Amino acid sequence: MIIKSSEYLISNVDWQKCPTPNLPEYAFIGRSNVGKSSLINMLANKDNLAKTSGTPGKTQLINHFLINQAWYLVDLPGYGFAKVSQSQRRQWEQMIENYLRKRENLVNVFVLIDSRHTPQKLDLDFINQLGEWQVPFNLVFTKADKNTQAETSRNVKAFLNKLRENWEFLPQHFITATAKKVGRDAILGFIDEMNAQ
Ligand code: GDP
Repeated sequence: MIIKSSEYLISNVDWQKCPTPNLPEYAFIGRSNVGKSSLINMLANKDNLAKTSGTPGKTQLINHFLINQAWYLVDLPGYGFAKVSQSQRRQWEQMIENYLRKRENLVNVFVLIDSRHTPQKLDLDFINQLGEWQVPFNLVFTKADKNTQAETSRNVKAFLNKLRENWEFLPQHFITATAKKVGRDAILGFIDEMNAQ
């Protein structure tokens, strides 16, 4: 896919106020600092597209971008902030659950996992929750350039093995490194294929 245009549209707390669901939609989520903004900017070929909505105070929002006038890219607020209150966490959970379960044009959720780490409970719990809700998703292992290839594959394998404990079929996965645009064609190719269906 060639990205001809990408623009920030709107940020919302309420899924019902999101843009009219008349285009296919792809959401990105992961724990904070996983590399989500960098990945979105890499996909869109823009240095600071995701930052548009990344200013403090806007982080707990559902952020919509329009790509090629053809599909929505959604930047969802990350999980795993150390310093949020119980009530903020509950608010996040409610917003995310409603969005993920009710947004009718949502085609796929890309769950970002930091490839430097061994499997983390927080990520596994979130993925298992997606499964319970029957939300389609796949995995993106980020920051692959921070480790050797062998270490990255070991962590990816370990993560997939963990998922096997609960899942009969494993989701598709991508491996990314933003500086060299590793994984960009694969992710955009996947979205292209989904959009063509
Ligand atoms: P977010 O909080 O999930 O949006 O994460 P950011 O995109 O802001 O990235 C967090 C940090 O990880 C920043 O310092 C990025 O430069 C760095 N980072 C993100 N992606 C990569 C990557 O693919 N490779 C490397 N080496 N660093 C990355």
